Amino acid sequence: MSDYGGAEGQTGITEISRKHPPTNAQCPACEDVGRKVERQTVLHHVRPEHLSRVNGEAYRFCATPSCTVVYYGEDGARFTVADVREPVTEKTSGDARPICYCFGFSEGDVRRELACHGAITIPQQISRLTKAAMCACEVRNPSGACCLGLVNKIVKQLADEHKTTPVLAEAHDCCAQ
Ligand SMILES: [Zn+2]
Repeated sequence: MSDYGGAEGQTGITEISRKHPPTNAQCPACEDVGRKVERQTVLHHVRPEHLSRVNGEAYRFCATPSCTVVYYGEDGARFTVADVREPVTEKTSGDARPICYCFGFSEGDVRRELACHGAITIPQQISRLTKAAMCACEVRNPSGACCLGLVNKIVKQLADEHKTTPVLAEAHDCCAQ
């Protein structure tokens, strides 16, 4: 009887220990699961005094607006909004909020276009440049991802406030994910 039980129990334990602990994917502060980013992306965004802490291989980006953590690693390292060089779109509001890191557009640029011309051409401009393979989102954007989805969302929100219908950026793969 004990042999039978023991064999069953051991198999179960082995299977569980082989699985990746799910907590590695979760932000240590807000517990949301962030997207994976390359070590290179983390190195490009942390302030110089934090470069020596970027020693791991596996990092994730936390996109939760209310969470101050930007990057966290499987090695336990974490980098907050105070540790990175630029404001993070998801965690910033107002005119200074960057919406496209490759070409430098901010939320203020969209507001100014709306106020001056009543129309927005910024998503089209970004779309045209990314189609020409002129973007570098995987490095320039702290999230390591293409900005177009978020640009469209932000522009649509601002246009709604002005009761305008914007021409949004055409969705396409500007970066290999
Ligand atoms: Zn978080």
